[in-house]
Amino acid sequence: MRLSKYVLPLLREDSSEAHIASHQLMLRAGLVRQTASGIYAWMPLGLKVLDRIGRIVREEQDRAGAIEMLMPTIQPADLWRESGRYDAYGPEMLRIRDRHDRDLLFGPTAEEVITSLMRGSIKSYRDLPRTLYNVQWKFRDEIRPRFGVMRGREFLMKDAYSFDLDIDGARHSYNRMYVAYLRTFARMGLHAIPTKADPGPIGGDMSHEFILLADNGESDVFFHEEWAAETRPQVPDFSDGDAIDAFVADRTRFYAATDEMRDTAAEAGLGEKLRTARGIEVGHIFYFGTKYSESMGMKVQGPDGDLVAPQMGSYGIGVSRLVGAIIEASHDENGIVWPEAVAPFRVGIINIRASDEATTAMADKVYGALTGAGVDVLYDDRDERGGAKFAGMDLIGLPWQVIVGPKGVERGVVELKSRATGEREEISPEALLARFQG
Ligand code: ATP
Ligand code: MG
Repeated sequence: MRLSKYVLPLLREDSSEAHIASHQLMLRAGLVRQTASGIYAWMPLGLKVLDRIGRIVREEQDRAGAIEMLMPTIQPADLWRESGRYDAYGPEMLRIRDRHDRDLLFGPTAEEVITSLMRGSIKSYRDLPRTLYNVQWKFRDEIRPRFGVMRGREFLMKDAYSFDLDIDGARHSYNRMYVAYLRTFARMGLHAIPTKADPGPIGGDMSHEFILLADNGESDVFFHEEWAAETRPQVPDFSDGDAIDAFVADRTRFYAATDEMRDTAAEAGLGEKLRTARGIEVGHIFYFGTKYSESMGMKVQGPDGDLVAPQMGSYGIGVSRLVGAIIEASHDENGIVWPEAVAPFRVGIINIRASDEATTAMADKVYGALTGAGVDVLYDDRDERGGAKFAGMDLIGLPWQVIVGPKGVERGVVELKSRATGEREEISPEALLARFQG
């Protein structure tokens, strides 16, 4: 993409709208714009990041055996009357009435919709277990939207729902998601700690929030130092169900809890090994038994011919929140530092003398070669001051910068700079291409 033909509305000044680094940087780097309180438009560069995160989330859901579908954003109130949640949900639900006076709502979550769909589709124990997911916009009329996309009102969520015949099966489905989440966040360059979370009225140990440590996070977390370790556990793959269960049993030995689940005795036992921090909730996995299947009349034929209500769980990831959370975890005084896996473009080319024919010819050549090799490149081909170009490229945080200037061009080289380390090297266009081709 040539910057001269793109829409990248960078801001030179901090915005009074934003109070934390990630929100400030999302506005300054032209990733999003707020259109109403807690509601954001995704500008071209921001959408690319959102898509890349969504792709990783999908790949790991698919790998875990979950099946993608797409549920509507608008839901009928009657489904929520069946489960009893229509009145219970409160003012976070955006309630809508259509021209025929029918009550609708903008979905804050989709347990009711998925249960109504699966009660018509899954009739026998032979069709279990199944986990379905979708990546869809949700609306929650948060009392205090803040921190940009991290606590928006409209936000993109991956929500998965598991259906099992019995509790053992449900635990296995739950454990697969636990592993899928560790894999997902690790691929984004994040270290999210699975903390014991409130299981609600059903009780039990199957509720974990995945918390990314960050000073500006809204959650307080308390954990065994093992979770802070730089060496990441070896996460198993999904071919061996027993290995999955053993892995989760092993990891959950180490204490980690959110505020409402603190165990003071366990913490006292940890002594020096106890860590306390603030963090951002990026995902939540949750088993809730037959709460919806029972209330909404979903029954499957069991092996003995009897009718049973399936055991269910739900599993959320805040896809749009992650864009802010990743920036919160990965930025410096000059701007965003994208982990490669989620960067909007892999390489940014800066032509520092667009008025010079030989320099532009070299920059064009490098751009053509990289894009020809399938590398996602943003090419700053505008006729502007070098200083503004460097600052802009640092701000948007692409992992690699290729700087093309007249002095290097005379010697047939360009400069390659790593955004994360600041390291620079001179390199020929051919060697550069070879580097990024693989
Ligand atoms: P929170 O405690 O932050 O309000 P929640 O417990 O309401 O989160 P869930 O219902 O578990 O969240 O939703 C699944 C995921 O969706 C969360 O882990 C979070 O990453 C994301 N999420 C929830 N609310 C918002 C929001 N208002 N804006 C952006 N992402 C959100
Ligand atoms: Mg909430």
